[in-house]
Amino acid sequence: MSVLEIRDLHVTVETEEGTTPILNGLSLTLRKGETHAIMGPNGSGKSTLAYTIAGHPKYTVTGGSIALDGEDVLEMTVDERARAGLFLAMQYPVEIPGVTVTNFLRTAKTAIDGEAPAIRTWTKEVKQSMKDLRMDPKFAARNVNEGFSGGEKKRHEILQLELLKPQFAVLDETDSGLDVDALKVVSEGVNRAKETTGLGVLLITHYTRILRYIDPDFVHVMVAGRIVEEGGPELADRLEDEGYDRYLEPAVDTE
Ligand code: ADP
Ligand code: MG
Ligand code: MG
Repeated sequence: MSVLEIRDLHVTVETEEGTTPILNGLSLTLRKGETHAIMGPNGSGKSTLAYTIAGHPKYTVTGGSIALDGEDVLEMTVDERARAGLFLAMQYPVEIPGVTVTNFLRTAKTAIDGEAPAIRTWTKEVKQSMKDLRMDPKFAARNVNEGFSGGEKKRHEILQLELLKPQFAVLDETDSGLDVDALKVVSEGVNRAKETTGLGVLLITHYTRILRYIDPDFVHVMVAGRIVEEGGPELADRLEDEGYDRYLEPAVDTE
């Protein structure tokens, strides 16, 4: 059984003020087939965690470890991470001018599997997944993320998720900017991937809304770069009622 283990992770980023610590000792164990929601107020470091798992060069790991089945993820290039079975959907996906969705998907699939997919089954699979995600077939000929609406970007990410069949997916604010219909379609896609491939999901979100459609097994509350509370799905219900205020009480002023 595959496991992604994050241990005492410390991450800094370079800002105008110098080196700023963002993650301050974060630990988390995600097993295949499990869904973990990471929830927290804006600025708590949720996207930083996603970028760090993805290997974004802006983020420097100053302590701790990330291991996938015992293999050091931090030593892997971005491509190696993808081949090892990690999938990362970013809060702000980038445009790839001149590369169509079709070509992008095929190239990604080939890179991850180490061989090109068989044309006929692949084409069928792409069409079926696009249909499942209620995507216009014309979408396949568009350039990746160029002029995509928020909803199209998210659908395109879930399309990748369904076709690339990773072991673990990190979904950063996949719910942001989606209307209820798009949210349902996208959530169904994630749930299909969970059912068919036993995908492990790290679902990063500020709001509880998406958790009505994707059931988390565990909920972690992240504040100031640390997990401050953990629980089951009931913790999300409490956050929905109470928000994050209880975690943000100002320290007692002793002056
Ligand atoms: P969240 O996703 O929880 O809203 P982020 O990880 O985006 O939080 O940000 C956490 C903190 O780190 C914020 O104070 C943010 O300004 C800072 N930060 C994150 N990435 C960068 C960056 N690339 N450059 C400068 N500051 C950053
Ligand atoms: Mg944010
Ligand atoms: Mg974020």
